[in-house]
Amino acid sequence: MPQAVSSITSARKTSPMLENNETDRPVVLLGGGHAHVEVVRSLGEHGHGRKIVLVSPSRHAPYSGMLPGYIAGRYRFEDFHIDLAALCERKDTTFLETSATGIDPGRRSVSLANGQVLGYDLLSIDIGSAPSLPAGISGGIPVKPIASFAKRLAQLDALAEEHEGPLRLAIIGHGVAGVEMAFALHERFARDRVQVTLAGRALRAVPERGKMTQRFVETALQQAGIEHYSGFDVVAFENGELVAGDGRRLPVDEAVWTTSSGAPSWLRKSGLELDAGGFIRVDATLRSVSHSNVFAAGDVASLPDPRPKAGVFAVRQGPILADNIRRSLTDETLRPFYPQRAWLALISLSNGHAIADKWGLAVSGRGVQAWKHWNDTRFVQRYRKLC
Ligand SMILES: Cc1cc2nc3c(=O)[nH]c(=O)nc-3n(C[C@H](O)[C@H](O)[C@H](O)COP(=O)(O)OP(=O)(O)OC[C@H]3O[C@@H](n4cnc5c(N)ncnc54)[C@H](O)[C@@H]3O)c2cc1C
Repeated sequence: MPQAVSSITSARKTSPMLENNETDRPVVLLGGGHAHVEVVRSLGEHGHGRKIVLVSPSRHAPYSGMLPGYIAGRYRFEDFHIDLAALCERKDTTFLETSATGIDPGRRSVSLANGQVLGYDLLSIDIGSAPSLPAGISGGIPVKPIASFAKRLAQLDALAEEHEGPLRLAIIGHGVAGVEMAFALHERFARDRVQVTLAGRALRAVPERGKMTQRFVETALQQAGIEHYSGFDVVAFENGELVAGDGRRLPVDEAVWTTSSGAPSWLRKSGLELDAGGFIRVDATLRSVSHSNVFAAGDVASLPDPRPKAGVFAVRQGPILADNIRRSLTDETLRPFYPQRAWLALISLSNGHAIADKWGLAVSGRGVQAWKHWNDTRFVQRYRKLC
């Protein structure tokens, strides 16, 4: 007999709503990621006649593309967050402020950190990813979850103010996120004698982008006075030093991890089919290859034709995911998601400049930063105006 919860506490209201009754099980959305905000909006607007429950550890869902701007002081907290509880209330969806700790696809249930077990008819997972740290390392501050990073930022502020002599702050990982974080932290601490250093495993910064962008980034790092260690594969972080595989040592007071994305470890026990990295394998319609009533999108999904973990895919998957959830409930044919081969990257530097990169070509300047601001705020505004 499947276990199912008897009641759900919403952020705004208490509503007894889930029963053990098989036919009354809801559609459960795990995570308020970029795809799921669109699912909540869409299912709320186009009647589906089903109960929807969104589970998220925080009522405020961040838009990570604007995190560097927040760090640099260009945005306030509310500028880059969507209020999930308010969105859910407007879209007839129950919001549960807790996180999933396990999935039992056999029983069609999800275990929650608050002790509840939530039965589902259909499950969709958009819980993102977090930097994977080298084996055995636990020190430093991972950039995700962003809510935890925002709290640690306040501690960094205090550390920078109190520290005797220059504070040495290393950003580890020199992909797009790491580069943006290095410039943003440099800008934030410009007056606080903080030395920002960037270190990454590849031989060039932003190895995933074209050569023009790599040159723009490296020149901008030099101009800003941010030291850049390339080919620096961190194998240990001990006694205030980052140690690279080739033996180099970098003394630091604090480190921020922006290394490549790892999957939530608890998924390994779920019985869902995962790829070698632990991400949920889905078919072209975003449906789990092992369980037909489970969907996954965003970073946590492993597509048949894999792409790097980037928010642009989660955003584009949102409308298809919403449509396929609806189609699945009415036994209609599902639509495929076709990920782009080339996609635009807008990369913030310092002093109001940014780079636009696509098809191996790049331009840099203040106009690009204005474009990025328009692009990012447009996404957040689409949902904030509904709250
Ligand atoms: C500094 C930085 C800048 C970036 N800039 C860009 C950019 O400009 N363009 C771009 O394309 N990509 C960018 N990225 C990458 C981007 O952040 C991710 O690819 C994107 O957020 C993935 O979206 P998602 O929907 O998969 O997950 P997320 O946006 O990470 O959302 C997942 C949500 O699930 C919730 N969650 C987590 N675990 C659980 C659980 N167990 N139960 C319930 N809920 C859970 C989390 O709280 C979170 O709100 C950037 C990343 C960083 C770190």
